[in-house]
This record gives sequence, C-alpha cells and structure tokens, in this order.
Amino acid sequence: MKVIGLTGGIGSGKSTVSEYLARRGYTVIDADAISRAATGPGGPALEPILMEFGAGVFNDDGTLDRKAMAEMVFSDADSRHRLEDIVCTIVRDEAMARIEHLRQEGHESPVFFDAPLLFEMGLEKDMDESWLVTASIETRTYRVMKRDGVTREEVLKRIASQMPDSEKEKLADHVITNSLDLSWLFEQVDELLSMLEEG
Ligand code: ATP
Repeated sequence: MKVIGLTGGIGSGKSTVSEYLARRGYTVIDADAISRAATGPGGPALEPILMEFGAGVFNDDGTLDRKAMAEMVFSDADSRHRLEDIVCTIVRDEAMARIEHLRQEGHESPVFFDAPLLFEMGLEKDMDESWLVTASIETRTYRVMKRDGVTREEVLKRIASQMPDSEKEKLADHVITNSLDLSWLFEQVDELLSMLEEG
C-alpha cells in the first residue's frame, strides 16, 4: 500500500484533486477534517491549547473561541507556530494511525493524505510520494475571490503567509499544473495514477 501526500497552496485546486481521487474510489485522509475535529467540542487539541494559551481563547461552554484564537495567531507569528505545532502533532499522529490501520486491514490500493501543510510539517518524509498541485498566483487569486467572496488583497495576504510554490516544487515528487480546465487537471492525475498502479 503506497501512501501519497497531496498538497498545494490556497486556490491551487488541491481539494478538487482530492475529491476526484475519492470519486475514483481511492481512500483520502483529510488533514483539515482531522484538524477541525481536534479543535472541535471535546477534541484532543483543546487541553494543550488551554495549557499554552490560557482560558482567554475559550468560550464559557468550554469550546474554542475561534475568533479570539485567530486574532491571537494573526497578530503574532510565534503564537501561530505554537498553535500549528499542537494541531500538526495531533493531525500527524491521527493520520499515521489511520494509515497503519489500513495496512493492518490488508488495504492494497494507494492511500492519499490531503494535507495543506504537508511540507511545512515535514510530513513528506513519511510518504512514499508527494504530489503538489500548483497554479499561478493570478489564477489562484481569481479562484479564491470567486469561491469565498473575498478581496484580492485578502487572498494575496493568505498566499504570502504560505510557503512559496518555488520551495514546495523542490520537495515534491510530482507537480500537477492546474492552470487550465478541469479535464486537463484530471488527465494529469490519471497519468500519475497509472504510473502509481504500474509501479
Ligand atoms: P484551499 O486551500 O483554499 O482549500 P484548494 O487548493 O483546495 O484551496 P480548490 O477549492 O480545489 O482549491 O479550488 C479553488 C476554487 O477553484 C474552487 O472553487 C474550484 O472549484 C475552482 N477550480 C479548481 N480548479 C479549477 C480549474 N481547473 N478550472 C476552474 N476552476 C477551478
């Protein structure tokens, strides 16, 4: 069973690839979903967040005050790194546990780990391969503005806060260029899948 890390910056089309893989019947482990559950009610990230950041980032009912947390990490890179460390450790452990479980069940076909911070977390080392979805900053900005109804400046700020594609390309085994229509995107994915199934 091969494990492939799938990543890409905001608006690159990573989720579109991930959904396509799931439609084709592949198991996709979603890092964002694990992260949301970890910080949701009763989630395993709450206690370490409380220890690190205090009660000020919690609502009265004990749930995480996402707005207060976001404000804190937005204004302070050190806090952001500390929060990322907490959440990333949980995401990594949970993903690895699921992968191990699939292996023990005798799962044979490739499994994908959809992780926006794959390279930032150094997780590509635990993967058999890593695939990066890219598109120009112009294209990504346009897509996100359209999808989320946000301004150009907001998207550019989010892009600027991420590791640049030029760095990610050095770490990726395969780069999927999503600069045209969806059929071209899926064609590239199909090609990589055939290589994977043959290898
Ligand atoms: P994020 O990190 O913000 O979640 P993402 O990399 O997962 O972004 P997607 O959500 O897959 O990106 O794509 C961003 C938007 O662009 C979506 O609305 C998607 O439908 C659209 N999109 C993706 N690829 C294409 C394409 N080739 N042609 C047109 N629209 C596209």
